[in-house]
Amino acid sequence: MKVIYPGSFDPVTNGHIDIIKRASVNFEEIVVAILDNKSKSPLFTLEERISMLKDATSEFENVTIDSFSGLLVDYVEAMDTNTVLRGLRAISDYESEMRNALANKSLNNNIETLFMVSKAEYTFLSSSVVKEIAGFNGDVSNMVPESVSVKLKNKFR
Ligand code: ADP
Repeated sequence: MKVIYPGSFDPVTNGHIDIIKRASVNFEEIVVAILDNKSKSPLFTLEERISMLKDATSEFENVTIDSFSGLLVDYVEAMDTNTVLRGLRAISDYESEMRNALANKSLNNNIETLFMVSKAEYTFLSSSVVKEIAGFNGDVSNMVPESVSVKLKNKFR
């Protein structure tokens, strides 16, 4: 089965990598799809996010990195699959994930959203927490892949 793992990945964290790694065992093909959302202003450009994700997932042979804009359901269909993968950390994720999954289902009834539960040690971890800590020169080296840690240091220098 081919699954699309969509998100902002601004930047990718060890929590994302854990989901990708576990999914690479359970699914034949994983496409990590970075949302190119013009209305959000990300810390990292789309090109930077693509490069960091490629770097961090190079060991997984069935994982590819792509980007999309517009409706997720249209992208998923164009990629010849019907399955979206999302990570679930805490109850706080549940409400918005449920809303998105139901909205996608109402747009295209063929789309299925699967959830993979975060590892306990990553339930607190998010791209925004990482950016906040890095912004105050805090150490994020155990929260993100090495190349992301270096890029964050350069951004906030
Ligand atoms: P979005 O803005 O679409 O939520 P994110 O990059 O924040 O994009 O997250 C992409 C996906 O990864 C989401 O399904 C999110 O729940 C999941 N995710 C984020 N952080 C973690 C984590 N620490 N552990 C597991 N899943 C996570």
